[in-house]
Parts: sequence; structure tokens; C-alpha cells
Amino acid sequence: MIDGKAFAARLRERVGQGVAELVAKGGPTPGLATVLVGADPASQVYVRSKGKLAAELGMASFDHRLSAETSEADLLALIGRLNADPAIHGILVQLPLPKHINTADVLLAIDPAKDVDGFHPYNVGRLGSIAPGGPLDFPVPCTPLGVSMLLHELLGSLAGLQAVVIGRSNLVGRPVAQLLLRLDCTVSIAHSRTRDLPSLCRQADILVVAIGRPEFVRGDWIKPGAAVIDVGINRLPADNGKSRLVGDVAFAEALPVAGQLTPVPGGVGPMTVACLMFNTLQAARRTVGLAVSEADTAR
Ligand code: NAP
Repeated sequence: MIDGKAFAARLRERVGQGVAELVAKGGPTPGLATVLVGADPASQVYVRSKGKLAAELGMASFDHRLSAETSEADLLALIGRLNADPAIHGILVQLPLPKHINTADVLLAIDPAKDVDGFHPYNVGRLGSIAPGGPLDFPVPCTPLGVSMLLHELLGSLAGLQAVVIGRSNLVGRPVAQLLLRLDCTVSIAHSRTRDLPSLCRQADILVVAIGRPEFVRGDWIKPGAAVIDVGINRLPADNGKSRLVGDVAFAEALPVAGQLTPVPGGVGPMTVACLMFNTLQAARRTVGLAVSEADTAR
């Protein structure tokens, strides 16, 4: 079982050291601006934890809370101010946005250099056209980056391994596939129209599952010894009247078959927020011409 919390703790420590080194060299204190529109309780929790972690790692954190009625023009005006502010190196607009705001327009308005979620089309295009082993000298979506870092740390070189990614979303599936291609895997992307998914999965040395369906992938779909990364987060009712989180993989069935398996919770989730901090540090480093170190690009 992969201890995602331990991996994430090590990454956070590295980021904290990186912040201290950058400041000691006379560089800027990395600044992360979080923008939350509306009062969705889950989003409030996420934004609070991101701001808190940024502060713990020595970064400056700027919290912008806007009412659910905020107009798109006002949100775009705020993004314009954050783009122009030299104290801010990363801008995170918490999704989903209220329905009257066009998410694509908002993501497009963020300066690509400060786009620490990696969703701006410019950064999406850079990831889509990256050369094998090419440097990640631009922001990359956090969950996929965490998956790539975990696999690289666990397995070392991934060259030539068969990877199957289930899910083709812009948030997870596609960028995971691009990152695994960058690490020289042979990548298949599966989705809801894929035929005979169990057979495809049985060929996978690496199986990344990002569907959003509880315990969908069964133990007998997994090649013995495969590394299985379960990105899914599904909330199910529990016996005690509360709820419990499960992944997209039937964990108890998969555990005896897989070589490595991420639990839910405690697998990919903690890496996601650590990667946001990583992206913010790298964005600050780039403003003073410092490259991402080779170790940090998981290669
Ligand atoms: P999404 O946008 O809903 O995409 C789901 C993908 O799964 C789609 O490509 C869909 O195929 C595919 N799919 C759905 N049913 C399928 C089936 N029966 N067989 C094969 N493929 C199927 O979801 P997402 O944003 O990528 O998120 C996926 C999961 O990851 C969710 O549970 C989400 O909560 C979780 N997540 C976790 C983190 C984290 O930090 N751990 C971060 C982000 C997301 P089609 O394209 O054909 O519809």
C-alpha cells in the first residue's frame, strides 16, 4: 500500500526548504492568491487548507472571498489585479464557479506564468507538446503531477512500461497520460466507450483510475504486480449514518494482486495540495530566472 501522506509530507518538506533557500538568496517570498466565489462548504475547506499550508511552508497567502453574486466582470478585474501584483506568483481560482460565470473565460484571464493549477490553454498546450523527458518548466495540473511524482519515486524509470489511464478529463486523465508519455510509458487512455476494459487493464504495468465510480475496477482486472493509482474520490453512506470515502478501485480485492496500490483516502489526495505548493514555489523561482531542478521534474 502506497503511503501518499508520507510522500506528500516529504514533498512539502522539500518545498519548504526550497522557499527558505529562495528567500535566503534574496529571491521573492512565493505568494499564492486563492479566489473563492460563493460559499460552497467543500470549497471553503479546500481553500482554507491551501492557504494554511502555504503559510506553514513560508509562503505568503492572499485569500479572496467573493459573494456568489459576483459578476464575471468583477472577477476578471480581480484576476487582472492579481496578474499585475509582483507579490503574487500563483493564482488559484477554486472551481466550480457559479453558473453565471464562464469558467473558460476566467481560466484564460489568468497569467499563464501564475496559473498554478495548470489549466490555462497555454500550459495545456505546452504539456501536450512536451518532448520525451522534456523539462516541466511551466505549471502542470496538480493531481496529475502528484501521480507522476509518486510513480517515478516508486518505480524509478518507467521507460517501456504499459500504462493504462481510465478517464479522459482535462483535469486528470489527459494530463496524467501526457506526463506518463513524457516518462516513456506506452500509454492507452480508456473512457466510457472503451470496449472490454477488463482485458485492457490486465495488460497494464501501471493502471491509473480517474473515473468517479465507487470500486468500479475489480481485483481480477489487475495484472499481478502492477502499480495501481486510484484517483477517484466517492462518498458513500456508512453504517453509522455518516459517510465514508472510497476510490474507483475495489481496494480489498486489488490489494493482494497489485504490486503497489494507493488507498482512498490517504493516497493521491495529499499529493495534490503538496503539488500546488510545488507549482507556486517553481513559479516564484522562474520570476528570478531559476530553473526547476532535474530532481524536481521527476526525471
Ligand atoms: P470526470 O470529468 O467526470 O471524468 C470521468 C472520466 O471517467 C471520463 O473520461 C469518463 O469517460 C470516464 N468514465 C466514466 N464512467 C466510465 C466507465 N464506466 N468506464 C470507463 N470510463 C468511464 O472526472 P474527473 O474530474 O477526471 O475526476 C475523476 C475522479 O477523480 C473523481 O472521483 C474525482 O473526485 C477524483 N479526483 C480526485 C482528485 C484528488 O486530488 N485525489 C483530484 C481530482 C479528481 P467519458 O469521457 O467517455 O465520459
